[in-house]
Amino acid sequence: MNPYALVIDGKRVETVAHAEVRNPSTGETVGLMPLATPAQLDLAVQTAARAFRSWSRTSDAERKKACHAVADIIAAHQEELALLLTLEQGKPLNGLGSRFEMGGTLAWTRYTADLTLPVEILQDNNEGRVELHRKPIGVVGSITPWNWPVMIASWHIIPAIRAGNAVVLKPSPQTPLSTIRMIELVNEVLPPGVVNVITGDNALAALMTAHPGIDKMTFTGSAETGRKVMASAAATLKRLTLELGGNDAGIVLADADPKQIAQGLFWGAFINNGQTCSALKRLYVHDSLYDAVCDELAAYARTVTIGDGQDEASILGPIQNEMQFNKVRDLVEDARARGGRILTGGAPIERPGYFYPITLVADVDHGFRLVDEEQFGPALPIIRYADIDEVIERANSLPVGLGGSIWSSNIEKARELASRLECGIAWVNKHGAIQPNAPHGGIKQSGIGVQFGVEGLKELTVAQTVLS
Ligand code: NAD
Repeated sequence: MNPYALVIDGKRVETVAHAEVRNPSTGETVGLMPLATPAQLDLAVQTAARAFRSWSRTSDAERKKACHAVADIIAAHQEELALLLTLEQGKPLNGLGSRFEMGGTLAWTRYTADLTLPVEILQDNNEGRVELHRKPIGVVGSITPWNWPVMIASWHIIPAIRAGNAVVLKPSPQTPLSTIRMIELVNEVLPPGVVNVITGDNALAALMTAHPGIDKMTFTGSAETGRKVMASAAATLKRLTLELGGNDAGIVLADADPKQIAQGLFWGAFINNGQTCSALKRLYVHDSLYDAVCDELAAYARTVTIGDGQDEASILGPIQNEMQFNKVRDLVEDARARGGRILTGGAPIERPGYFYPITLVADVDHGFRLVDEEQFGPALPIIRYADIDEVIERANSLPVGLGGSIWSSNIEKARELASRLECGIAWVNKHGAIQPNAPHGGIKQSGIGVQFGVEGLKELTVAQTVLS
């Protein structure tokens, strides 16, 4: 089996040591991830710093063209990348799986390529002229998670290079191969050193966040690791964008139609098997239609085929890794032991791989781990409520605030209630739907800063005012 290599300065850089990357559907080895040394991290950072000097001076039009060239080469290899993604991540090729992720990667890349940050004239009169310029920051370090690895890598890289920065990217050790392959391809159309990829264990990641040659960190991952990133970045006062975990609430009002909303609720919660930052993770349903919503959700769940991601019939795959599998199993067991009513699923599927069925758990409440903690997997707690003010308060009672949703046939009322949710993204009659022109980021302990659109692009720049 050919080992993968780091990509530094546009070239493959071999490592002495490697780690196996395994297919969560079968346990088979997919490929060998290179384990970079601290010296190779230094090399990647120095290379990016050198590339930054010329890349930051290219014209806006040149960088726009380069980002479209990146999209073109990814598009030409999207099926190859989708297959590799399925093999290491587990998500199916079909459904909202790998091909869908590649489609998202391309949509975001092209949209971001077309964004610009022109100089703003804040004043121009007899007393003087004030211009606001947006300049690139320097070397951007990027650390990505294992749930949507390719798309999230593109969310980090494209705005960074579009704004004129150079990048050192470190993907999750669970799913590094599709990202390495994408960066190899990207280097065929970008000047050497503008985008580099290194891989290794979590110790390497910690060295990155402390590295004096990295000017900004863009991090997507858990809140727990986010805290470490922030602490480690303090020594060099790095700029930070942190996209962290959540525990999104969805609230179904008494006037909703259970049949009509069931499919939206289901995919809001179970997209990517629930392994999505802004998936619906706590569902509150009004007492008057609680049983009807539970029945509709359970009926829909029974129509979804779970299997090996390479099987074109599979709509959902396995959980990505053992740690996450154990967490989901433990949270469901805890809920069952405390009187939670299992509507579907509830125990691992007996076959090789980390397969766990869609699990709906009724008659639970705050105080259950499944409600209080981020499950990040295919188990959804369904909580009964009677009073709208009280349920909004409970939805807002956790220290995280990524997304939230209101489900109702009265859109105006739903919008008003959505604005009362303490979260960075609020939806009406949908959940988890994101788009490249809508800034995305968490509040409270779900993150700092936003991605996407002009607001996201600005985070890859520093402001300079020029007064004359
Ligand atoms: P994780 O925090 O375990 O790992 C994320 C990345 O951090 C990996 O690349 C890992 O190698 C690296 N890392 C580990 N230790 C580190 C350290 N000490 N310093 C720096 N980096 C370190 O997260 P995960 O399990 O890969 O991903 C799941 C989590 O990510 C969930 O909580 C999910 O909600 C969150 N997430 C958030 C968003 C968002 O946009 N807000 C998107 C996707 C995932």
